[in-house]
Amino acid sequence: MEDGMQKQKVLVFVLSLLLAVSSALSQVPKPEDVLGFRVGTDRKLADMFEIIDYFHQLDNTSDRVLVREVGKTTEGHPFIVAIITSEDNHKDLEKYRRYQQLLADPRTISEDDAQKMIAEGKAVVMINCSIHASEIGAAQMSTQLAYDLATASDPDTQRILDNVILLLVPMHNPDGIQMVVDWYRRNLGTKYEGGQMPWLYHKYVGHDNNRDWYMFTQVESRLTLKIHNAWHPQVIVDMHQMGSTGPRLFVPPYVDPYEPNVDPILQQEVAMMGTFIATELTAQGKAGVAHSIGYDAWTPARAYHHYHGGIRILTEAASVKIATPIMVKPEELRPEMTESSVKMPLPWMGGQWRLKDIVDYDYSAAMATLTNAAGLRENWLRNFYRIHKKAVDPHKTPYAFLIPKEQRDLSTALKMIEVLKLGGVELHRAAEPFTADSHLYPAGTLIVYLAQPYGCFAKALLEIQKYPEIRETPGGPLKTPYDVVAHTLPLLMGIDVITAEKPFDAQAKLVEKFEKPEGSITKMSNNIGYAWGHATNDDFIALNRLMTKGHTVFWNAEPFVVAEKAYPVGTMMVLQKEELNHDLESIAKDLYVQFEALGLKPGVKAYRLKPIRLGLYKSWTASSDEGWTRWVLEQYEFPYTSIYDQDIREGRLEAKCDVCIIPNLSVPAIVKGLSEKDVPPDYAGGIGEVGVKNIKEFVRDGGVLITLNSAAHFAIKHLHLGVQDTVAQKSRKDFYVPGSILKVLNRSDHPIGYGFQRDSAIFFRRSPVFAANEGVSVARYPALPFLSGWINGEELLVDKSVIVDVPYEKGRVILLGFPVLYRGQSHGSFRYLFNAIYYGGAVPVELGLEYSGNK
Ligand SMILES: [Zn+2]
Repeated sequence: MEDGMQKQKVLVFVLSLLLAVSSALSQVPKPEDVLGFRVGTDRKLADMFEIIDYFHQLDNTSDRVLVREVGKTTEGHPFIVAIITSEDNHKDLEKYRRYQQLLADPRTISEDDAQKMIAEGKAVVMINCSIHASEIGAAQMSTQLAYDLATASDPDTQRILDNVILLLVPMHNPDGIQMVVDWYRRNLGTKYEGGQMPWLYHKYVGHDNNRDWYMFTQVESRLTLKIHNAWHPQVIVDMHQMGSTGPRLFVPPYVDPYEPNVDPILQQEVAMMGTFIATELTAQGKAGVAHSIGYDAWTPARAYHHYHGGIRILTEAASVKIATPIMVKPEELRPEMTESSVKMPLPWMGGQWRLKDIVDYDYSAAMATLTNAAGLRENWLRNFYRIHKKAVDPHKTPYAFLIPKEQRDLSTALKMIEVLKLGGVELHRAAEPFTADSHLYPAGTLIVYLAQPYGCFAKALLEIQKYPEIRETPGGPLKTPYDVVAHTLPLLMGIDVITAEKPFDAQAKLVEKFEKPEGSITKMSNNIGYAWGHATNDDFIALNRLMTKGHTVFWNAEPFVVAEKAYPVGTMMVLQKEELNHDLESIAKDLYVQFEALGLKPGVKAYRLKPIRLGLYKSWTASSDEGWTRWVLEQYEFPYTSIYDQDIREGRLEAKCDVCIIPNLSVPAIVKGLSEKDVPPDYAGGIGEVGVKNIKEFVRDGGVLITLNSAAHFAIKHLHLGVQDTVAQKSRKDFYVPGSILKVLNRSDHPIGYGFQRDSAIFFRRSPVFAANEGVSVARYPALPFLSGWINGEELLVDKSVIVDVPYEKGRVILLGFPVLYRGQSHGSFRYLFNAIYYGGAVPVELGLEYSGNK
C-alpha cells in the first residue's frame, strides 16, 4: 500500500510538473511569436522597440526573468537589463547581490563569512550585446538566449539557472540599434542594402563608445556602471563583430601586453574562459574559432572589469552586411585562415556566411560562458574574493597618491575625482598636516591609498604608463598596439598629483561626497566692470554665458596692474552694465569662477570678443572626432552649427559662420567623401573641388579655419600653407607614437596660449609634426617631450611646432596638430580650441580708448 501511495504521489507530481511545464511553454512567447520571424533570418532585424517589447513580455510571463530599466539613453530611450536566474534564486536576489558586495571588499567580512558566501553564493555573469550597433548579431541573439533560459527544463539549463545570475544587456547601445535597423530597412532591396550608414551610431561618440570605460563621459557608460557596481560580476562578455575575411569568431586569450595593474588571477581566468568557449564551439563543429590573435588588454578604456574583479571576454564574430548574407571565397580569406594552427585548430574554409551563423556562434559562446560559470561557480567566487584580498593588502608600492588641495583648475580636478569615485575608489582627506616621503603636506590634502578594493584602478589612471617594447622582429618596428597606450589622467587633465612611495601616518577621513565650491565676486561700488581668469575650463563657460547675454567682453593682451594687483596677460574682462551683477551672481553660484571688480580701466592692448558664429564640419564619412567635438562644445556651452558637404559646395560660408572647425579627417574623406557605389547620392562626393575653392574664399575674405589633428593636411595641401608635416613620410620603424602623452612649450602671450603655463601636456595620436615657415608657432615640442605611453623617434619632435597660427589674407588658418579634445578626456588641452574659437573672431583694440566714453 505504501508502495501504491508512493506511485500515486509520483504520478500526481509528474502530472503537475507536466502541467507546469506546458503552461509555462504556452505562456512565455517565443521570439518569433512577437517579432514575426525566426531570430537570424536573412534580411530580418528586430529593432530597439521590438526587442524592448519582447523583453517586457518575458518579464510578464516568466518567473526566471526580471527586466529593469536602468535609465534613459542619450536620445531618451529605455536602457534595459534582464536579470535571469532560477525562480528560487530570484526570491533571494538581494542576498546574492549583497554577497557580491561583501566578497568584493574583504575588509568588511571574516574569513568564515567569506567561506560561507563562496559556498552559497552565485556566479554573476554579465553579457553586453552590440555596443557597436552595426555589429548587430548579438542583440538579435539575446532574445533567443533569454527565451531558452526562461523556458528550458533540461538538466544543463537548470544547472546554469541554479548556479548563475545572468545580467543580460540585450542592447548596449539602444539608440544605435534603432539607427542601424532604420537605415538597413530603408535601403533593403536597393543596391545600398547592407551598406554603411553615413553617420555615427552613437549621437556623440560612434565607435568610441567602448573606449569610455574609465572616463565615463557618456550616459550609456554610466548606466552600465550602475549595473556593474551593484552586482560586481565575475564574468563580463562583450559581444562584437569584426571583418569578414578572418576567423569566424575571436575569443580570448588576448595577446601581450596586459596593462600591469590587472591581477594575474584575472589574466589566467580570461585565458581559461576563452579557451573553454573555443573548445565548446569547436566540439559543436563550429569552425574558424580563433584565440590569441590581434586584441591586447592594455588600455583600461575597454576593460573597466579588469580593475574590478571581473574578466572581460571579448567576442568578435565575422560580419555579414548587417543582415544580408555574404559569400566568402576561400581565396578571399586571409592567407593564414585556412591553415590549422594552435590558435585555430579547426579552420573555416569559406562559403556562405549569414546572420544566422553569427547568432549561432554568439549563442553558443554565451551558453559556454554560462556553463563554465555554473560548473566552476565556487572557483569563480573564491578567486574573486582572493583578488580583492590581494587588493586590500597594505604592503603596496607606491603607498598612496596625494592630490593637493590647491589646483590650478579645481573644477577639472573635481571631475577627475568624480571619475575615481565612479570607479569605486575611496579618497581620504587629511585632517592634520602630515609627512610623506620627507615632505610636509597640509591638512586638506586628498589621499588615495593603494590598499583598497579598486586601488589598481586608481593606480592605472594616476601613474605614468611605460608601454613595453614588443617588436615584430628584433630591431624591427614596434608591434602595433590594439589601441592607444597612455591614460595618465593627471597629465591629460592638467591636475597635480604626487606619488607617495613609502608608508606614512596621517589623520585622514574617508570623503563621502565632494561639493564643488561656489565661485566668488569681489565687489566695489564704482566699478567699470569685472576681471576673471583664463586658466580654467569653467572660465570659458562663464565667458559663453556672458556672451550669450550680450555683455561686452575683452581679453587683455598685456599684463596690467589695478589697485596694486597684477593681472596676467589674457585676463578676461566684462564691462559694467545693468544686468551684469545679476548675471555674475548666477554664474558664481554654479561655477568656480572668481570675478573681481575693477575700479580703473587698464590702459592696455586688448581683444574685443565677438559673439561666435561657429561652424563644425560634419562629413558623411562619419567621424568620432566630430562627435566628440560636438559633445565637448555642448558641455562647455559653445553654440555651434553643423556644416555639411552641401553647405560648403553651395558657398557663401560666411553667411553661416565666422569660424569653421574641421575635425580629424583625412584629405580624401573631406574632398572626395564616400562613393556613390557605397551610399545614396545625397551622401556621396565630399566637399569636392568647388568646396575647396569656397573654403579658400571664406578664409581669404576674413573667415577663420581651425583644423584638428591630421585635418591639418587638408589646409596645408589645399590652402598652400608654408607649413610642412615633417613625419608624414616616416615609417613606423623611424617614428611611432601610438597614443601617448607629450610635453609642449607654450607661447602664453599669444591668444591661443592665454591661460597656459610655460609648459603643458597634450595627447598625440596619428598627429602631424609641423615645420612652420610662415605664421606663428604657438606651441612647440621641447628637447625631451615624452611623458607617458611609448615613443619611437622622439628626436624628430624637438623644436617642431604643435600649434600654428597662419594669417591668410583677411582671415587665418589655425592648425591644432593633435587631438585637442581627445575622447573627451584631455581637459588640460581643451582651452587651446576654446581660445582659438574666440581669437578667430576677436578685434584688436586699445582698451583705454575703447570704452573711455562707455562708463
Ligand atoms: Zn566592435
